[in-house]
Amino acid sequence: MEQKILIVEDEKEMARGLRDILEFEKYEVSVAGTGKEALLAVGRREPDCIILDLMLPDVNGYEVCAEIRRNRVNTPILMLTARSQDYDKIRGLEAGADDYLTKPFSVGELLARIRALLRRRGLYAQGQDIDVVRVGSSVVDVRHFSVQRGRKEYPLSHYEVELFKLLYANADQPVRRDHILERVWGVENYPTNRTVDNFIVKLRKKIEDDYKNPKHILTIYGVGYKLSP
Ligand code: CA
Repeated sequence: MEQKILIVEDEKEMARGLRDILEFEKYEVSVAGTGKEALLAVGRREPDCIILDLMLPDVNGYEVCAEIRRNRVNTPILMLTARSQDYDKIRGLEAGADDYLTKPFSVGELLARIRALLRRRGLYAQGQDIDVVRVGSSVVDVRHFSVQRGRKEYPLSHYEVELFKLLYANADQPVRRDHILERVWGVENYPTNRTVDNFIVKLRKKIEDDYKNPKHILTIYGVGYKLSP
């Protein structure tokens, strides 16, 4: 089945150019010209990836992004910015963007970013059925809730496994703390940010060779955490 991409861009020529490129690559493309249209299209068309221009006539891309995430939609979002705009990466990540690209960009770069986002989404959507994966010198066995490092084996708890799977599905990308809270703990059991930090320490103790100097489960200050397997 064709993967669906939503382009949110008010400049007609830019939108048309993007549409042509993506349709040529056999994506199913739709275009929204305003933030409001974008939110409607997300609900109606359920895209697999969203290309979101930062400058829109009604609301800016950050706000659109945040609203999409508030609606509990986890579709990957690639933010487009003009070189003259001062794109704030932290603000973008906090709003829920997954990646960004500065105009003008090459077609090759655009397609590579989209493929990467779709691949990560695919990893996560595959029922998160990672099985046994290597992280540094540790072997994490998700199915059997254990970590093997050297000759030692450490058991993993339910939440540790869920946290690991979420980080792994987003490998090499920062995952926001509030996103972790929502995905791993859910709203009903909404714990504090402290909970996430405590579980990160637990995971580090099992996975990292030196948990005080982590090499794989990294803190991204002001945002959250990133797993670099
Ligand atoms: Ca624009």
